[in-house]
Amino acid sequence: MYKIEAKDVNLHYGDFHALKGINMKMKPNTVTALIGPSGCGKSTFLRCINRMNDLIDSVKISGLIAVDGEDIYRKGINIDELRKHVGMVFQKPNPFPKSIFENVAYGLRVNGENNRGFIEDKVKESLVQAALWEEVKDKLKKSAFELSGGQQQRLCIARALAISPSVLLMDEPASALDPISTAKIEELIYELKSNYTIVIVTHNMQQAGRVSDHTAFFYMGELIEYGDTK
Ligand code: ADP
Ligand code: ADP
Repeated sequence: MYKIEAKDVNLHYGDFHALKGINMKMKPNTVTALIGPSGCGKSTFLRCINRMNDLIDSVKISGLIAVDGEDIYRKGINIDELRKHVGMVFQKPNPFPKSIFENVAYGLRVNGENNRGFIEDKVKESLVQAALWEEVKDKLKKSAFELSGGQQQRLCIARALAISPSVLLMDEPASALDPISTAKIEELIYELKSNYTIVIVTHNMQQAGRVSDHTAFFYMGELIEYGDTK
């Protein structure tokens, strides 16, 4: 069974045809890199997988996108439920103006979780998974803004992991970071693969080579090459 399936996906922003007949199939526990020049539709396609494009009025989408075999654009789908399964990490680290602990706990609280022990365990587990626990375990009550950029990005990854998604979407997660932080994020992506299906946008071919199993080349809204990462 495929984790994510896109069939003949077309997307328009008003009159502008931004995605042209995209077909992709992603198996569980794989990393797929979306690559191509700026403006070719990588982020647009990524945002189709958690329906973030719906926030834009002019967007029209056709075709099918399924996660775990379920059409995520069908009538009556619960988008909040979908986003519990499909987490997202953005290009710029965007921690909330809250403590380190509360950043990671955020999604659990939004979901109505109020068992303190459970929240504490989940926050720790997520920080461990995001390779940040050792660096922050003694300052969980400090503001997230006291962390470095690279740490903030791993915090945002922990925040995404805390709600136990099975898919992780990452939009250029390392492009705002220094080389050492970038290497840490790349290593982390490799480790997370055993538990998550990851789709990462990058404009960096070398990075795609280092982190991904499959590479999808976009060009002017089309998927022009798709296969195993060489
Ligand atoms: P990439 O991620 O490959 O850089 P994007 O998916 O961000 O490309 O953008 C693809 C094309 O769609 C670009 O031409 C961009 O200007 C256009 N676009 C992206 N977002 C919007 C939007 N909200 N409204 C109109 N056009 C958009
Ligand atoms: P990226 O780093 O993905 O290339 P951009 O700087 O192209 O990001 O776009 C940043 C934001 O602006 C995105 O949310 C995108 O949807 C929006 N955007 C991009 N192009 C347009 C456009 N032509 N019209 C309106 N919004 C746009």
